[in-house]
Amino acid sequence: TQVNIKNDLGTTVDIHHGDRGECSGSKQNSPGSPQIKRKRLPQTPMEKYRMKYLWVTNLCSQTWCEQQMVYEFEYPEFLVTEKSAVINAGSSIHLARELEVHDVVSVKTQTREDTWAIKLLNILSMIPVLQSGSHIREFPVFGVLDGVFMAGVIDELGYSSKGELELRELKTRGSRSLPRGAQKRSHQFQVSLYKLLFDGMVSGGLQPEMFFQHLYLKPEQSLGPQVIEHASKVGFIASNFKELLELACLNLTFSDLPMIDNLKIEYCYQEDSSLLGCEFVIFEREMVLEQLTFYLAFWKGLRETQGVDIEEAWKCQRCSFSNICEWRARKSACNQTKRPK
Ligand code: SF4
Repeated sequence: TQVNIKNDLGTTVDIHHGDRGECSGSKQNSPGSPQIKRKRLPQTPMEKYRMKYLWVTNLCSQTWCEQQMVYEFEYPEFLVTEKSAVINAGSSIHLARELEVHDVVSVKTQTREDTWAIKLLNILSMIPVLQSGSHIREFPVFGVLDGVFMAGVIDELGYSSKGELELRELKTRGSRSLPRGAQKRSHQFQVSLYKLLFDGMVSGGLQPEMFFQHLYLKPEQSLGPQVIEHASKVGFIASNFKELLELACLNLTFSDLPMIDNLKIEYCYQEDSSLLGCEFVIFEREMVLEQLTFYLAFWKGLRETQGVDIEEAWKCQRCSFSNICEWRARKSACNQTKRPK
């Protein structure tokens, strides 16, 4: 089943102060006078962009340049068309690989709960395949990390010749070269986050309450007719979201699936899908958690946006936002004043 989920982006909410009884003094609206609409100032970036959860890929964009990621949210029209072309070509290769192991069916969803139910059904259908020793593709992962609900999709999970559970992440490249340091570090962080989420899911870390508290999903929401029909086709019976969610959490916890042993990144050439090379990533838990805390501090509004350091200023040369970037302007002004006479 394939469902496209979009990030929950939106604009600032208008609220009526009078509605909350917060107006006072001369600014208070007199009875019968038109109410003054005021904009509530967003408190954190998550609130500002109306995101109830983050994608792992949001954090990976941050590792490249946090300021650039913010500009991408604020000015999506600035994104160069080549970037979209690269993403489209990569998506086609991913879809072709996915179709090798299972069919993609279309299920009509009516509510947010339906959309999440489809992800849960995908997980429930893939658990027995993985238990039988086969490999699976496009496995959804989610959980709460450092107080924030995170979601992602693992490209492929399967077993190595030694019987170890292996995560395989496919990266497509526009040129016949392997990525260099900065991009590699972002990919390493991505697969490490997937491991954190997956390991949490199979060890009882995923709790139904997380979905209600963080995503505001309604436990008693009835599932749509097509979702119920699809659930019964894949062997599950549930009438509301909570029933399906509990089923998925229990199945994961008691699945006896191991935690991920190996993290492997495969680099392919976009033109002909040929393999350029593989990288095995060493999972360094403490370092990943430290990075995670740093990047999430931005989303929680605990620190200001940061652009690239001077050592990585080369990234600015091919950035679509270099002409408007405040971080870059501040850094170059700072360098001007520091320059010796
Ligand atoms: Fe980041 Fe440089 Fe682009 Fe500014 S110009 S957003 S610092 S890459």
